[in-house]
Formats: sequence, C-alpha cells, structure tokens
Amino acid sequence: MLILLDRDGVINEDRADFVKSPEELVFIPGSLEAIARLNNAGHLVAVVTNQSCIGRGIITEDQLTAIHSKLHDNLRAVKAHLDAIFVAPDAPWAATQMRKPGPGMMLKAMDRFRQASGETVLIGDSPGDMEAAFVAGCHRVLVQTGKGQRTQRAGLAPHLLPVSVARDLEQAVDYVLEERF
Ligand SMILES: [Mg+2]
Repeated sequence: MLILLDRDGVINEDRADFVKSPEELVFIPGSLEAIARLNNAGHLVAVVTNQSCIGRGIITEDQLTAIHSKLHDNLRAVKAHLDAIFVAPDAPWAATQMRKPGPGMMLKAMDRFRQASGETVLIGDSPGDMEAAFVAGCHRVLVQTGKGQRTQRAGLAPHLLPVSVARDLEQAVDYVLEERF
C-alpha cells in the first residue's frame, strides 16, 4: 500500500510559527520507528506537507532542504526511509490544488507510485488532511498528536466520517498493519 503522512503534528511537533530550521524539527516520540515498521512491511511511504512558510517568504527552498536532510538522517539512523516528500509551498491566499485541503499532492503521489486510492492511506492531524484524503478517495486516519485533539474536539464535517482515530503515528501504523482503517 501507499502510506501518505502529513509532516507537522504527525512526524514532528507542530509549531504555530512554522518549522523554520533543522533545530525546530523536533520528532514526536516513536514516529521514526513507526515509519521503519511501514518500510519493513513493504509499504511505500511518502510525506505530503503544506509548507506555506515558503510561499509566505519566511523560509527558502534551501532551508526546507536542510530541514528535510535532518529528517532523512534521523530516519536512516533507525533504518527507516521515505520514498518521497511532496511539498505544497503555496501561501493560503494563492493556494493551488496542491495545497491541502486540495487533493493535488495525494493524486500526484498515487500517480507516481501507481497506487489506487483504495490502496492508499493518509495519516494526518488536521481537517485539511482529512478533506484532501476524502477528495482523493483515500483511506484516512486522524492522529491525536499535533492539532489532532483540537480537530477531534471541533468535530469533523459529516461527509468526512467515519475516520479512524489513533493516539499517534505509532498506533496509526498498528491500524495500517492490521488493515483497520
Ligand atoms: Mg499537520
């Protein structure tokens, strides 16, 4: 299967003021090891992340590359890897279909890896993640890390339900491996 992961609030701690440097990329406990379990089970794993900090002019593409180098290095240390990282750099006021809740990154990932929507799961923490996955026709799991608890408290739009809710990426990966989503 193809497992698509939101980044902020799923792999690393979400920051209201954006992750602007490698130092600000703080991993959620167990998230890197959870990705290793997906790799070991033979699943494709890709990140689909909105990074409006680029479109807003807060960081450059090079700074994002440095942040993602830290992510790759830390994954390698636990024998894990990502098959791809898809980034939507759009500012909210200039959003294309690539920026979630648009389905663009999910469609691009499914096309790249030739996976049907029924064989694709998105794991995210925000309503926009759930909406993007819904529009793309993917399975979806909401994690309670990052904005997840707030998302759950606020309630999801009825058309997005039912959504599987996991404590964190570690538990979301349990769901994937047990095909419970
Ligand atoms: Mg997020």
